[in-house]
Amino acid sequence: MLKIYNTLTRKKEEFIPLNPPEVTFYSCGPTVYDYFHIGNARSFVMSDIVRRYLIYAGYKVKFAMNLTDIDDKIINKANALGIDSKEVAKRFSEAFFEDIDKLGLLRADINPRATEHIPEIIGMIEKLIENGKAYEVNGDVFYEISRFEGYGKLSGKNIDDLESGARVEVNEVKRSPLDFALWKSAKPGEPWWESPWGKGRPGWHIECSAMSCKHLGETFDIHAGGSDLIFPHHENEIAQSEGATGKPFAKYWMHYGFLNIDNEKMSKSLGNVFNLRDMVKKYKPETLRFFYAQTHYASPLNFTAEALESADRGLEKLSNLFDNAKQALAAGPPSGSAIFGFEKSYQAFKEAMDDDFNSPKAIAVIFDFIKEANTFIAAGEGLTREFWEGVLEFLKKTADGVLGILRTEKAATSDSGLEDELIQLFIRLRIEAKKEKNYALSDKIRNELNELGIILQDTKEGSTYKKTR
Ligand SMILES: [Zn+2]
Repeated sequence: MLKIYNTLTRKKEEFIPLNPPEVTFYSCGPTVYDYFHIGNARSFVMSDIVRRYLIYAGYKVKFAMNLTDIDDKIINKANALGIDSKEVAKRFSEAFFEDIDKLGLLRADINPRATEHIPEIIGMIEKLIENGKAYEVNGDVFYEISRFEGYGKLSGKNIDDLESGARVEVNEVKRSPLDFALWKSAKPGEPWWESPWGKGRPGWHIECSAMSCKHLGETFDIHAGGSDLIFPHHENEIAQSEGATGKPFAKYWMHYGFLNIDNEKMSKSLGNVFNLRDMVKKYKPETLRFFYAQTHYASPLNFTAEALESADRGLEKLSNLFDNAKQALAAGPPSGSAIFGFEKSYQAFKEAMDDDFNSPKAIAVIFDFIKEANTFIAAGEGLTREFWEGVLEFLKKTADGVLGILRTEKAATSDSGLEDELIQLFIRLRIEAKKEKNYALSDKIRNELNELGIILQDTKEGSTYKKTR
């Protein structure tokens, strides 16, 4: 039985989808004004693992992740670069997809973009005005939070405390400093759309409410995001959606913990904001995923070079067993039953993931499996085709299929195909150099590949290679 810790009820609850076997799942996506950082990447990877496990468990998952492609940050970036805000959004949306592909994320079923949902956004704002939850002032529309009774139920914040702590700005047109913008009237030089309140653009919070409603329905199963989004973003989403439809919004709320760098908060002023794009040049995507999955999604996580290196070493055990099994199968082992007990490992894996997606526990199960399989292999008996196939299947389904920390199929990108061919070319050149007794050249090839992170391994059957990054 799958249990999820629900931020809304502050309890671990049995997961009962609205419409089994379908699961509707919304995860807040990026604002496309820059490359996303390794903290964002944690959220994306964890949503990917949750989604993959739901599929593994037999659910039919409909997964939506939005792209905020109109926002103050995008407009500021466009002004700084002297280009159109559309161009900024286009550039960083493309970069977003390139980066999540590198991370091995399954593509979402839907990636709704704010600028493609202006009519739905306007429709929801009109509904909120009609329901007495929002008001217009000079072309701006605000949500009046005192008109929504459940405000604060997700974050546990109290409206009175918030109000007394809020800074009241000069020329404030809002009825309460906590009221937030649903629609912003256009300032000169800003992109705009026509609306019943004049030219303007949507606020950030309303986008998620309008787009999740359109694609997943008024009520859906799981809403996820970083814990920094609980307040005000997710609190506001609830106020908007429930204020407009009168129905419950998301049933289960999942929040991913913070990511620190060397025990410090990631911040622009400390200069320690690392883009995922740069990190995948240093570390394999599987290493990054392994690093994320080694900590429970809700706990804080500390990013250090040592942690990444140890993740990398851990992964070696995994790929070694996988490679051994593949080579053993290629050699044509005898047929016979598999006396090795796979079932209990599958069971333990399921128990771990059923417990609020406890990926560190699931990884421990996989490593126990590796240890047992290696002991069994060392004993040298019962090494049948069925055994080796069982090993491959277990790793494929769990480490690759659910956690994405092992790539069992060669990456299909033309990029890595070419890379492999080039490395093979150098291996052949090195063999030729050796044949001609040109050891200086053969050593040079080996050492220079080494510096690029490509380690050659000479075996009886010839040379293979291994990438360290
Ligand atoms: Zn959102």
